Amino acid sequence: MSAVAIRGWCPGALRPMRSGDGLVVRVRPHCGRLDAAQATGLAELARRYGNGLIDLTSRANLQIRGVGEESYLPLIDGLDRLGLLDANPDSEARRNVLVTPYWTAGDESRALAAELEKALAGAALDLPTKFGFAVDDGRERVLAGASADVRIERDSAGGLLVRADGAPLGRAVTRSEAVPVGLALAEWFVASGGAEGERRRMATHLASGATLPDALCGDAAPARRSADPAPGLCPEGALVAVAFGQMQHQTLNHLAACADALRVTPWRMLLAEGMRAMPAGAGLITQADDPALRVIACSGAPRCGKAHADTRALATALAPHIPSGARLHVSGCAKGCAHPGSAEITLVATRDGFDLVRHGSTRDTPVMRGLSGAAIVINPSVLTGGR
Ligand code: SF4
Repeated sequence: MSAVAIRGWCPGALRPMRSGDGLVVRVRPHCGRLDAAQATGLAELARRYGNGLIDLTSRANLQIRGVGEESYLPLIDGLDRLGLLDANPDSEARRNVLVTPYWTAGDESRALAAELEKALAGAALDLPTKFGFAVDDGRERVLAGASADVRIERDSAGGLLVRADGAPLGRAVTRSEAVPVGLALAEWFVASGGAEGERRRMATHLASGATLPDALCGDAAPARRSADPAPGLCPEGALVAVAFGQMQHQTLNHLAACADALRVTPWRMLLAEGMRAMPAGAGLITQADDPALRVIACSGAPRCGKAHADTRALATALAPHIPSGARLHVSGCAKGCAHPGSAEITLVATRDGFDLVRHGSTRDTPVMRGLSGAAIVINPSVLTGGR
């Protein structure tokens, strides 16, 4: 395959990224869905050409990890046979579309997402690699906490709107206007300098003073935001999580055998389509109150070359001590890949031990520095200030 570029950033299937455990190959399922054959095939490719581990990402993608240089091209051929490849790296990078997993057959969500993907494939848009779209057109907004720059949503009366991320209101649109207006917002973003310099996201572009043209803003208020999702049954199937958003290939294979199809979400969970009972199996988190859901950790050592500590071992040890409703983020360095936002407790590994941040992110000022992981495990009350 000629249209392949190995880079150190923005992993895609056609733009893999090097990591401490080999190449990371990111797969973007079309319209956020893998049919059972695709899921089974992807699990087999991860077993055969990777180290067997598969990540669920906050962009609703799957990442095959631990791919050797010699295994890369056979893996790409396999993904191509499963219908999981784009024509070239540029169209793959542009096809950054989240879709609500709570769609039902015949509603507009999948049709809008498919139309948007098709339009993006043919668009001459040079968007930043993190720039993305969300089709979140249910009665409540379920993707409001997920990263996206252009959002297709509904108002409280059910009308469609297109909203620039960071703007409180959007432009009311008809069904046929939704995708063209979404693309027009992306074109305006580039033309108005949003893709340049440090900003490179819609919300920061607007916050820094960029003003939307009249044709792209409006007075339509989006529907209310839904509660945070949790594992459990829903009308569309069973929502299941995996610890740290990572699973063994056997887990994906098992889920594929149980469900009609799998819908990927930005919550590091999969929606097993059509299931009427929660699946059981090693590696699956099926209870909303599972302590493993209270911790977030990046790959950490030894999987990431930049990591100063084994983040997941520490997070696993601390999970039972994190209060219900709180979140602990353990990051292997200040980059904060696993969770750029704020958490009740953040531990950042450094050369000199862990920095502790309360109610902030890896970029905020720590309240304590140089903590040893072993000491925190012995006395986890230090995380909450002894309360
Ligand atoms: S936060 Fe740092 S250590 Fe963790 S995966 Fe990202 S670069 Fe690696």
